[in-house]
Order: sequence, then structure tokens, then C-alpha cells
Amino acid sequence: MKKSLGDLPAEALAGKRALVRVDYNVPLEDGRVADATRIEASLPTLRWLLERDARPVLLSHLGRPRGQPDPEFSLAPVAAALDGLIDADVRFIPECDGERALAGSRELAEGAILVLENTRFVPGETSNNAAVARGFAALGDLFVSDAFGSLHRAHASTVGVTAYLRPAVAGLLVERELEALGSLRESPGRPFIVAFGGAKISDKIELLDAFIERADRLLVGGAMANTFFAAQGLETGRSLVETEAIDDAREILDRAGEMLRLPRDLLVTADSRDPDSEIREVPADSIPADMAALDIGSGTREDFAAAIEGAGAFFWNGPMGRFEDRRFAAGTFGLAEAAARATAAGAFTVIGGGDSAAAVRAADLYDAVSHVSTGGGASLEFLAHGTLPGIEALDDR
Ligand code: ADP
Ligand code: MG
Repeated sequence: MKKSLGDLPAEALAGKRALVRVDYNVPLEDGRVADATRIEASLPTLRWLLERDARPVLLSHLGRPRGQPDPEFSLAPVAAALDGLIDADVRFIPECDGERALAGSRELAEGAILVLENTRFVPGETSNNAAVARGFAALGDLFVSDAFGSLHRAHASTVGVTAYLRPAVAGLLVERELEALGSLRESPGRPFIVAFGGAKISDKIELLDAFIERADRLLVGGAMANTFFAAQGLETGRSLVETEAIDDAREILDRAGEMLRLPRDLLVTADSRDPDSEIREVPADSIPADMAALDIGSGTREDFAAAIEGAGAFFWNGPMGRFEDRRFAAGTFGLAEAAARATAAGAFTVIGGGDSAAAVRAADLYDAVSHVSTGGGASLEFLAHGTLPGIEALDDR
């Protein structure tokens, strides 16, 4: 077990500079924060620190600037948004690794929060450069890791910094993720049902493999199912198929056997871009050569929902269809509703993945499931391996 904020005694926090790695990788539109979910998710940790008279100094990356300052990816609008969400004085300094940042951290008054500039403006961040990590470490008296979605990457601000700054503990957001995902890994309620969808198998092979051993049933939909159909030698028409992954899909099918369930029917259409293009429901082995499968069909929706509603634990990653187009959202929303019903009946339900989380939000069921993971790649990697580089780096309890 790793230490988290709650394990630190009051004197470890009072008056101390808490260097917090947050995940403020938020979408911006016209220089303003378009979706503040990730900022809101950091508030419990920040409030915890402020209530104990710690002085929070925040580091985050935003987007993919190329190791140099790029105004398009500045955290200034994020600091402004945070200021509107928390009852504290929020300061911003447009650098994260120099004298001004260091002086800013030392001069920070109690009750105030300091937001520093994008860590990826510094060349050594993503290469985990030791000097850069040491520079970050000088900004705090303790380190709080709360950027769960970034902890599968060993960067200077997630891993390197912990070599020079102790205590290094999990923030409240990371602690919650570890509890939810850890319980799915260690002792899931039974039956443990897992649903996979989305576009690519190649990103998720390790996890599919891991769940063949650990889950009781694997439900596969979305474009991912098309690649399995191709592996079975079925016609997939103009559906999205990941050709490079067909061999892997065949191996997974062999190993999984009966526990892996593919859709038995599908929604297909000839031209998905044409709003008037006729949509048909066909058996999975009858995709017309000139059409593409874009959602699971009504029979599959019922089968999958029934399996989920009987679950003791449920994990889901990847939409069942191209749900951004409402004509192909029924499968995905149907799964979200089944997950909500399972939760109400006492199952432990977890949704992981950026697009899947967006789908659950669009279905207005975000609060109706047990846990929505904030980390896409990080949650998948944690479920497969049981730890992440950015977790390993923290103090043991
Ligand atoms: P997540 O972000 O939850 O891990 P992915 O990124 O793997 O999910 O996949 C999400 C994308 O997959 C969505 O943009 C969705 O439109 C697309 N998708 C799912 N099923 C299909 C399909 N049958 N045809 C085309 N695109 C699909
Ligand atoms: Mg995605």
C-alpha cells in the first residue's frame, strides 16, 4: 500500500509547501476552459491541504507543446478557472522551473494557491531529466501525486521529482482510483463482467488478455468487434477493421473460448455521413459488402444488458458504436443504463476511458455508476499490471 494524504500527520502539512502534480490537461476553446471536470476533480485534495494550512503549488501538463513555451497551451486560463471554483486566492506564474517559480513558492501566503506554467514547456519533462526533476522538487516541502491519468508515464513531474522530494504521497483523487481499480483487480464481486468496445484492439490487447483470466465474461462490441469478425473470416463490408490486429484477435478468440461474447446483430448503413442513408439491423454474419457496422443491434443490447445486470462487478471500456452520432448511440447508452441498474442492485461498476466516460456523461448517468476513472491509458495499464510508474515512486505506507 502507498501512503496518501490522510496518512500524513498535521505537522507534516501545516505551513509546508505541498507540490501537487494535478491533471489539468483540459480542453480549451478561444483561450477559455471548455470543460472544467478535471479542475473540479482536484478540489478535494486542494481543500484538504488548505484546511490544514499547507500551501499548494500546482504542476500540470496541458496538451502537447514541444518542450518549449507555446501560448496556445498556457495554464493561465486554467488558473483563472480554478480561481472561480475555489474559495482561495489563486496566483499564476508563467514558468515552472526557474527563479520566479521558486521565489513564488517561497513567498506564497497561507490560504493561497500557486499555479505554475505547463510542465511540458520544459524540454526535460517528458524525458524525465534529473536536473529538471530536481528543479521541480525545490518547489515543495512534500509531494502530492494527484494526476492519475499521467501516472503511467515516467516524466520528471510524475516520477523523477520523487527522487528528490519526500514525503511523496497519493492525493485524494489518486487514492480513490487506486481503491476502485485495485478492488477490481484483487477481489471483484462475482460474476465479474467486462465489456470492451471502441476503435482499437492493439491499444488494449494486454488488458483483454488479463481479463480472459480474471473475468467471468468478456462482452465485446464497437469497432473492436469488427476485427474479431474479420478474424473469424466473416464479411465485414466497409466497417472499421484494424487489419494489423487480426492475428492477435484470432489468438484472443482461441484462448478466450466461450467466455468472450461478440454481438449477434448489428446496425449497418451504406453511407454513415449521409443523414438519410437507410439504417438496417442485420445478423452479425450478414454484414452487406457495401455497408459498415456502426452499433450493436437490439438483440445484442438485450443480451449484454442482461449479463451486466446480473453482475457482482462490472468494468467497461470503449463505446459499443459510433455514439457521437445519435443514430448509433443506442448500444452505448443501453450499456450505460444497464450499468446504472446493476449499480442500483448492488454491483460495483467502473467505467474507464475518455470516450466511454464522455458517453456516460452524455447519457446523464455519471453519478449512477460506482466510479468513472479519470485516466484512460493509465486505468487500463493499472488493471493489467496492478501498478504504474507514478504509483511505484510514492512512499510505502
Ligand atoms: P475510450 O476512449 O473510451 O478508450 P476508444 O478511444 O477506444 O474509447 O474508442 C472510441 C471511439 O470508437 C469513438 O470515437 C467511437 O465513435 C468509435 N467507435 C466505436 N464503435 C465504432 C464502430 N462500429 N465504427 C466506427 N467507430 C466506432
Ligand atoms: Mg479514446
